Amino acid sequence: MSIGEFDLIARYFTRPAVARQTPGRVALGVGDDCALLQPSPGMQLAISTDMLVEGRHFLSTVDPVRLGHKALAVNLSDLAACGAKPMAFTLSLALPSVDEAWLEGFSRGMFALADEHGCELVGGDTTRGPLNISITVFGEVPPGAALLRSGAKAGDDLWVSGTLGDARLALEAFRGTLSLPAQAFVLARARMEAPSPRVALGQALRGVASAATDVSDGLLGDLSHILRASGVGARVDADAAVERIALRSMPASDIDLNIDIDMLRLCALSGGDDYELVFTAPVGAREAVERAGRDSQTAVARIGRIEAEPGVRIVDADGAALAQRFTSFDHFG
Ligand code: ADP
Ligand code: MG
Repeated sequence: MSIGEFDLIARYFTRPAVARQTPGRVALGVGDDCALLQPSPGMQLAISTDMLVEGRHFLSTVDPVRLGHKALAVNLSDLAACGAKPMAFTLSLALPSVDEAWLEGFSRGMFALADEHGCELVGGDTTRGPLNISITVFGEVPPGAALLRSGAKAGDDLWVSGTLGDARLALEAFRGTLSLPAQAFVLARARMEAPSPRVALGQALRGVASAATDVSDGLLGDLSHILRASGVGARVDADAAVERIALRSMPASDIDLNIDIDMLRLCALSGGDDYELVFTAPVGAREAVERAGRDSQTAVARIGRIEAEPGVRIVDADGAALAQRFTSFDHFG
């Protein structure tokens, strides 16, 4: 390595005290054997880890600024899904070599998102090896208030935040299975490479949502985790999900995507990489959910209903069952 391990940590992953936004909660950050965190009195810690592997989760050609953003975003999305407030994170990096331009971009993208959420880098590990990025996030949540996968009840509405399917459309465009107008591709690619973790919405849904998780592997796959944990089933309106595709409501609505409906349904229902929240709430909480969306400036939409009968029934806008099969992503599937 051209610069040493400790210079690298000092230059790219240690920030001057003035840039630190969380002095109250981070008693000791990067540089010692441990970091010391001070959760607010009485709060529970919420902890989650996500790893990004080159060739598996991202392409070697991806912009390092976006990669830094995404590596943290996918972790913050897990805190969002629990309704936790971000506090701090650690970063374990394996690098094939020291590429300072890459490190500068990566750390810039990562810290920009960290600052947006008041989440401080407090430690990590750095080693030589095939490019691999592992982040652990720490958040806090009032005891008993975390959103879990297990609380969905028959009769609850099924909701989703933000937009669905655009990341998958970008992936299909990269693969060459479809072509997107230039403007649409830019938007879809940004959704794939720079997702927005729904941190504010997650916290606003505490005490409102009955169950929640984030959409990383595809809506239906992630929903199935809620259904299994809650011992229920669901009816999902495929066309309401298709309505959530951002590309379909681009300002320049004269752009003709020219993508068939089966592909749109596939992208919305099992696309993956959306990093939205899928959650359930009692019918009586509709106004509270809408308010949580407004307060967090995040769109929320109903796309189905929880039912007692296990399994998922996918229907079109008229309520007719769809025959199309949808599978979600599984690293070992
Ligand atoms: P140790 O020998 O205890 O593993 P290291 O020499 O690996 O410690 O790390 C020195 C300090 O730098 C520690 O505080 C560690 O948390 C921090 N650190 C190492 N790598 C990173 C990184 N990629 N980002 C942030 N902090 C890091
Ligand atoms: Mg170490």
